[in-house]
Amino acid sequence: MALRLFNTLRRQVEEFIPFDAEDKNVGMYCCGPTVYDYGHIGNFRTFVFADLVRRYLAFKGFTVNHVMNITDVEDKIIRRIAESGTPLAEFTGRYTDAFLEDLDILKCLRPHQLPRATNFIPQIIDLIVRLEKRGIAYRTSDGSVYFGIAAYRTCGCQYGQLVQLDPDAQRQTERISGDEYDKENASDFALWKARVSQDGSVFWESPWGQGRPGWHIECSAMSMALLGPSFDLHLGGEDLAFPHHEDEIAQSEGSGLQQCGRPFVKHWLHASHLLVEGKKMSKSLGNYYTVRDLVTQGFSGREIRFLLLRAHYRETFNFTLEGLEGARVALNRIDVLLGRLTELTESIPAAPTDSVSKLPIKVAEALDDDLNVSRAWASVFDWVRDTNVALATGRFQPTDAARELAGWHLIETALGLGRKLDQPTPPEILERVKARTAAKLAHDFVKADLIREELRSLGWTVEDTKTGAKPKRL
Ligand code: AMP
Ligand code: ZN
Repeated sequence: MALRLFNTLRRQVEEFIPFDAEDKNVGMYCCGPTVYDYGHIGNFRTFVFADLVRRYLAFKGFTVNHVMNITDVEDKIIRRIAESGTPLAEFTGRYTDAFLEDLDILKCLRPHQLPRATNFIPQIIDLIVRLEKRGIAYRTSDGSVYFGIAAYRTCGCQYGQLVQLDPDAQRQTERISGDEYDKENASDFALWKARVSQDGSVFWESPWGQGRPGWHIECSAMSMALLGPSFDLHLGGEDLAFPHHEDEIAQSEGSGLQQCGRPFVKHWLHASHLLVEGKKMSKSLGNYYTVRDLVTQGFSGREIRFLLLRAHYRETFNFTLEGLEGARVALNRIDVLLGRLTELTESIPAAPTDSVSKLPIKVAEALDDDLNVSRAWASVFDWVRDTNVALATGRFQPTDAARELAGWHLIETALGLGRKLDQPTPPEILERVKARTAAKLAHDFVKADLIREELRSLGWTVEDTKTGAKPKRL
């Protein structure tokens, strides 16, 4: 069956056909994190969703080139480094590493390419020069460069492809220098920002003098440099559709680099927000959890991933700790069954069989339908129930168990939950176990006991073995 996805560009579900339909190569770009802090699990809802898309495309036989940028120069970053006095590369390097660790914890495959904006300054400048030559970008007296929406439209291009803009509400004579702004302010936006004193040492030389790129141009330059001027899939959270993605389209199509009739991006996918008590999970509202917060509370990356994948990507989804507890219970049902099936196949060598599990077929049918995960999980839990019933009859043979396990492993490549045993121990827990061992060696047993209690409150215990102290989940 063909894969059908909702395309924000046309506001409808349509068959996904890449430009290279014959060889099934897919270029996929997902806007990555702005590395000024740890990501929260709202951000990771979008990244786990991107991982599902990539894995499912691979399951369907596509060869995916998955690019995710790291925004390592932007207004918020500049403000933070000014406050902390840390050099740009050191500051953003710290949060880039943390982001990649979190991706690993959540069992997301690392994108094939992770371009950092600061490594693409020449490409960004070239693109702005090109827009300027085409009369779509213009300089201002302070040495900044702006994108001119009116000039872009005069070239026959459409500004307002992803969102319907009310032309009367647009004040095109005004300019926006901030990287983020509201729809009401659909105005000319900054491509290059002239150096100001608050930028400190964050600036580059350019044909317009010293300055730094705007956020939107970074993604146009990096995506086109790595995937070509037209590519198949572009993803991000719903808040990015406007202005970020609309501006990306304008800058990229304004460059005129695409072959006649080809768009910058064929298929746009946007993930809805993760909410907390009905409000978007965000740093500014302070209602957020990082992956680390939840791991420290004893939840595993698998459980968080499972929860983030439970709701359809176009539905907003309310996060609660009870929901996460529920995810743990549900995942445990799968794990118990997998354990029983594995035991059975290990008890007697299974004879080869031609029969195949129905599970991957059912799950694939659901995912083909605009990644309908709710239906996919319903099939998984029907399978868990039916297989448990079959096991209880005692007539289930090792060959049957092997067939069902193979079915699970096949679909598992798309869902990416991994095995329970694969869970790494969180670094905070390892640190505490080390500290307890040190306290014991120093005969400070009061401290050692306090650490043990602290570990217990985090859902862990310590076992003293011949090879040293080992953390264990309670
Ligand atoms: P940022 O690091 O703020 O640039 O955001 C990284 C990604 O997370 C973007 O694709 C955002 O759209 C997405 N995002 C931000 N907040 C949420 C949320 N509450 N739920 C889902 N995705 C989000
Ligand atoms: Zn972007």
